[in-house]
Amino acid sequence: MQDLNHDLVVIGGGIIGVTCAWQLTQAGYKVLLLEKDAIGRGASFGNAGHIATEQVLPLASPAVLRQLPRMLLDPLGPLHLDWRYLPRIAPWLCRLVANMRPQTQRTSSAGLRLLNEASLPAWRQLLQLAGLSQLLKDAGSLLVCESDSAFAELHHHLEVLSKIGVEAEPWSTSRLHQQVSGLVPTVKGGLFFPDTAHVTDPYRLVRQLFEQAQAKGLEQRRAEVHGGRWLADGIELHTSSGPLSAKRVLIAAGAWAAPLVKDLTGIRVPLDTERGYHMMLPGELERLPMAVSSFERKFIMTPMSGGLRLAGTVEFAGLQRAPDYRRAWGLVRHANALFTQQLAVRDATPWMGCRPSLPDSLPVIDRLGPQGRLLLAFGHHHLGLTQAAITAQLILSLLSGNVPELNPVPFRLARFGKLPPSHTLHNTVCLPGSES
Ligand SMILES: Cc1cc2nc3c(=O)[nH]c(=O)nc-3n(C[C@H](O)[C@H](O)[C@H](O)COP(=O)(O)OP(=O)(O)OC[C@H]3O[C@@H](n4cnc5c(N)ncnc54)[C@H](O)[C@@H]3O)c2cc1C
Repeated sequence: MQDLNHDLVVIGGGIIGVTCAWQLTQAGYKVLLLEKDAIGRGASFGNAGHIATEQVLPLASPAVLRQLPRMLLDPLGPLHLDWRYLPRIAPWLCRLVANMRPQTQRTSSAGLRLLNEASLPAWRQLLQLAGLSQLLKDAGSLLVCESDSAFAELHHHLEVLSKIGVEAEPWSTSRLHQQVSGLVPTVKGGLFFPDTAHVTDPYRLVRQLFEQAQAKGLEQRRAEVHGGRWLADGIELHTSSGPLSAKRVLIAAGAWAAPLVKDLTGIRVPLDTERGYHMMLPGELERLPMAVSSFERKFIMTPMSGGLRLAGTVEFAGLQRAPDYRRAWGLVRHANALFTQQLAVRDATPWMGCRPSLPDSLPVIDRLGPQGRLLLAFGHHHLGLTQAAITAQLILSLLSGNVPELNPVPFRLARFGKLPPSHTLHNTVCLPGSES
């Protein structure tokens, strides 16, 4: 077995793994990143770039329950379930329904709020340190609606959000059309979220952070981790390029994390994927001043440096099935219905990515195992870009034994099963470069 003498092996080169690797190398840790494919090409490649701090309500809600029967019937609707995947996703959906209890919803919402309110400051700080602030556009974002009934629902949504402490401004029809030109008159009004922002090139963000971490000593290897086992003084990983041992391991493998977690903790984490699509329109550089979402159509349009990105939809079809790009083209139809002038679709490219989703809509951010050698950062569902910088700060805090600024209890793995006594966190102080 090779003894690599790395402080830490990170599994997964998406926005979560790379941002953590960036933070840890800055703090002086010697990090090896293992990625089975190319860096930043998973869900983090094609997300909508929205720093969605306003999204503090869990997916599990009676409204989603009401839509479930329709999901089976409409392959191009905003929510779709591939019936062939039903036997696999059924337990996840049952947990989703169970999470609709008011108490569970409150816990999820409080957890989301906790992370989201710290997310934008964490990104601003990180990007400033990295000299990459130009990738973040502090323009706020807008949620618009078309029908009278949706307008009423939006106002109810505003009340719910303001109780939770999310700042939102209701915009009248005239204010909306003054601020955003080119929308059809039937777009009635909406909510403006001032404490949100967008990233102008999500893939470039991952790449730049990765390259900066490399300059600070990050090593990277293309290898797939198949599993692992505990050693007396570390963890042995079984990879496609052979076994390797590490003092500590961070699992940041997005939608693929569950088998690794099972192997090392015995806990079967109910992780599945909500597949999403985007359509990138390079000919649409000037269409919108900020990210605009549609309340009824459930998708977002984000102005990026490479054009306008239309993104959204949820599809339950697992990790293996081929993408159904009709869903991405469906986004163009929805967007065209919102503009007076049709979108330029020349050289448009569709894309599909796998959101890593847990049924309580909260990620796992944790440190456990003997001497706290196993770190976990996965399951960020619709909010992985939003929460990557704060997740990296929390991982560093957990690793250094500092009391984290955010209480991480709702993000613990133990909410999904009982850990062996030896896996309970010993809150030892562990300084960069030193053994705990
Ligand atoms: C259409 C769409 C729009 C979205 N819009 C937004 C948005 O606007 N704002 C927002 O905050 N979030 C958004 N998201 C969600 C966000 O993209 C994800 O939450 C985030 O990318 C997850 O990051 P990750 O690093 O956990 O996963 P990934 O980016 O998928 O990275 C995981 C990596 O781990 C690697 N890996 C997996 N298993 C192994 C293994 N065994 N060995 C080695 N490597 C492994 C994979 O190859 C992959 O590269 C969107 C998602 C989609 C699909």
